[in-house]
Amino acid sequence: MKILVINAGSSSLKYQLIDMDKEEMLCKGNCERIGIPGGIFTHKTADGRELDKKVNMIDHTAAFTQVKDALLDAEYGVIKSLDEITAIGHRVVQGGAIFHKSELVDERVIQDIESLIPLAPLHNGAHVQGIRACRELFGDKVPEAVVFDTSFHATMPPKAYMYNIPYEYYEKYAVRRYGAHGTSHRYVSARCAELMGQDPKDLKIVTCHLGNGSSITAVDGGKCIDTSMGLTPLDGFMMGTRSGTLDPSVVTFVMEKEHLTPGEMDQVLNKKSGLLGVSGVSSDDRDVTAARKQGNERAKLAQDILEYQISKFVGGYMVALGGCDAIVFTAGIGENQTAHRAAVCQQLAFMGVKMDPQKNEEMVRGKEGEISTPDSPIKVFVIPTNEELVIARDTKALVEAMR
Ligand code: ADP
Repeated sequence: MKILVINAGSSSLKYQLIDMDKEEMLCKGNCERIGIPGGIFTHKTADGRELDKKVNMIDHTAAFTQVKDALLDAEYGVIKSLDEITAIGHRVVQGGAIFHKSELVDERVIQDIESLIPLAPLHNGAHVQGIRACRELFGDKVPEAVVFDTSFHATMPPKAYMYNIPYEYYEKYAVRRYGAHGTSHRYVSARCAELMGQDPKDLKIVTCHLGNGSSITAVDGGKCIDTSMGLTPLDGFMMGTRSGTLDPSVVTFVMEKEHLTPGEMDQVLNKKSGLLGVSGVSSDDRDVTAARKQGNERAKLAQDILEYQISKFVGGYMVALGGCDAIVFTAGIGENQTAHRAAVCQQLAFMGVKMDPQKNEEMVRGKEGEISTPDSPIKVFVIPTNEELVIARDTKALVEAMR
């Protein structure tokens, strides 16, 4: 069974074709700058054939046409006919309080995803465009599923998801914590239990997804009990360009001083803050590391803040869990930036975290494994995330249940 996994953004469309019999990626690619001049289409097969072309794509349907052509191409293709694709799985960022699990797509589901656009303006609208374009091209005989970033967090208790503001805003506007990166937290926490050879039900795990966007989740017995992202992916701790949590008064104070509209302030918090805002160097942690090595004090400060805030979240979630069996690091920074992992583990040493420095240095660029010492009471793992595989697995299960 081959499943096409789609991650549609407002101006991009990422895809992966996965052979589910072996759970192997066959090819993956990206359509960039959809609807903007200077479109770029990239496609790469598992055996190393690469297609890279400049092509304008006026909308998501045009992008899907590129994907279809590449999948079937004589030189770069991986299938002979579209009939080989059994089903399509879409990533959807916001499932709100409506979706607690993955679903097969029908008109009602599309409308429900649309109704959640106010909670994820940058994402849900684009997902709907992707789903509709997909239907246009593949027709409705190919089943489609939607897998929500929020659904892993649906098990949070009210004390974790409610904000301390008038209750009526929750009732009127559904203002609450929803979290994000749920598919990643779900994958790495389950994989961690597998690597430990234990039933997830018996484990308390803190998962750290550290990328451009970052979040940390407390997983008790395989279920999320708390997560750092909130109503939107702005909440939590320092990210590439996002502020994470701050005193809400800072927002109104800076707006007044700088004469900013709510939209402009939103841009400051989402696009100009975090590593970029503090360091003044870059939102990319590799650039910040390079600047720090050359003695840039603000680059050092930004990274000190990042490590300090990650440690506080992990420590806090150990308390929320009432113990901890393992900590997992994943995503770009979590999988590669050994100095941050070392600093966080050092900060948590008093709680029983013992990291093996050599293992830590070795576990980079897609390697998976334990980086704690054999006698560490709390295990530490690096687990490359695989959200596409989770989407494909859910899609497969839904399609099989339908038959
Ligand atoms: P996104 O959230 O956009 O998916 P990623 O998970 O790729 O982002 O994470 C991006 C961050 O990870 C950047 O700050 C980058 O510096 C860091 N990163 C990514 N790859 C590496 C690498 N090979 N070595 C060091 N840092 C990396």
